[in-house]
Amino acid sequence: MSDPNCIFCKIVAGQIPAKKVYEDDQIVAFHDIHPWAPVHILIVPKQHVPSMVEVTEADAPLLGRMMAVSPRLMRELGVTNGFRHVVNTGRDGGQEVMHLHLHVFGGPRPWLKG
Ligand code: AMP
Ligand code: ZN
Repeated sequence: MSDPNCIFCKIVAGQIPAKKVYEDDQIVAFHDIHPWAPVHILIVPKQHVPSMVEVTEADAPLLGRMMAVSPRLMRELGVTNGFRHVVNTGRDGGQEVMHLHLHVFGGPRPWLKG
């Protein structure tokens, strides 16, 4: 369920600080420490799922929740002109933190990447 060496598991557990913007029984959302856009949050499952590689159809409600909460969070963070979702998977997908996370970017451009 949780990996003691995983930085996002530590954020979920409150063992290292993060600017959390949302939490429920299954997911946590917090600001990315190196934002690429004026608003850049990460939405993660509380359980340690390493990446999309491990996801199965049984995870559809969890992934649906991660996606479905994002419009409300963007609205609450003042994003009014659209936003972008990104999920990096594995080495070729550019994933650096091996705990599944949904990036959500918004705010006025230019952005650092993408
Ligand atoms: P990825 O390349 O998709 O694995 O992205 C990992 C993201 O996690 C990067 O955008 C990092 O800036 C972000 N990140 C890494 N450590 C932390 C942390 N302690 N708190 C918030 N965001 C983090
Ligand atoms: Zn983890």
